[in-house]
Amino acid sequence: MAAKIGIPRGMYYYKHFPFTKTFLTEIGAEIVPSPETTKEILDKGVQYCIDDACLPVKVYHGHAHYLRDKADFLLIPRLTSISKGEYICPKFGGLPEMVKYSVPQLPRILDVEVNMLRSRWGLDKALYRLAYGLGIKNPFRIRQAAGKALSAHRSFKGRVLEGHSPNDVIDGKPPKYINGRDTVGLVAHPYLLYDSYINMNLLNKLTERGIRYVTTEMVDPHIIEQRCMELPKRMFWSSGKELIGSALYLMDNSRIDGVLFLTAFSCGIDSLVGEFIEKYARRDYRKPFMVLNIDEHTGDAGFNTRIEAFKDLLNGRCKDATDLSSHG
Ligand code: SF4
Repeated sequence: MAAKIGIPRGMYYYKHFPFTKTFLTEIGAEIVPSPETTKEILDKGVQYCIDDACLPVKVYHGHAHYLRDKADFLLIPRLTSISKGEYICPKFGGLPEMVKYSVPQLPRILDVEVNMLRSRWGLDKALYRLAYGLGIKNPFRIRQAAGKALSAHRSFKGRVLEGHSPNDVIDGKPPKYINGRDTVGLVAHPYLLYDSYINMNLLNKLTERGIRYVTTEMVDPHIIEQRCMELPKRMFWSSGKELIGSALYLMDNSRIDGVLFLTAFSCGIDSLVGEFIEKYARRDYRKPFMVLNIDEHTGDAGFNTRIEAFKDLLNGRCKDATDLSSHG
């Protein structure tokens, strides 16, 4: 019988799920993803996770708790590095232990380390270890599964770069076309942007107000890389680099009317990166810029007020822009 592997819907689920799903299915495992975040999942996450953790890590604990009696194994990879010469964030490295020692009665955790700090072979090593741990020892089968997983990932990433939501691509839903006068850049980690429960349906709130958006995930990684080369120092945190590179690109883009930075309270990387982006926004770009900070206590009413205020800033900019001469 195929082993059932639980995949918590959190953290890099929104980046890597098609890859993981294809690889595991190809080596004969059955996948059990947790559902979209609900109040109960968030509450369990808050109950079992340490207080100081960021919101996405708490939510992840809730998803692991949801899956505790629904799978034979839980896949919580130890993501040390996913790009050569860069780390992600220490929370990704410690996630298997945090979950293992906080949430009771979990099935066995598959915690293979993915470490591509020195080379991309770090991923191959992790895939072999994962397959061996599940009793699959045929190297040809593992290599073939890895190849298919990579193709699935490329096709997924291609659709996201075209402007589709990762959730729609994963769930096979048709793309949504949004009409609106303004287009904003949405800078954030994918697990904040695409978890509509924790971000209080931010994407829908924007579209209901006639605001289109381009997210960090929709910016080509080559552009992000290029923009980060302009920085005085090399960024060695992959997740912070994505935020800074996409923010600089979006602020510079004439089709973007303003930039929203969605950030998790108590995220060390965001506090640093946010300061940096804000400094650039105020100094070099004359576009509306706003930081939206969320945690498990953020209320809908206050959040709506912030979005309305941002919309007013956009409207003000459009009005003022008509007073400018066509050549600036
Ligand atoms: S980058 Fe920030 S939000 Fe993401 S896991 Fe690390 S601390 Fe949490």
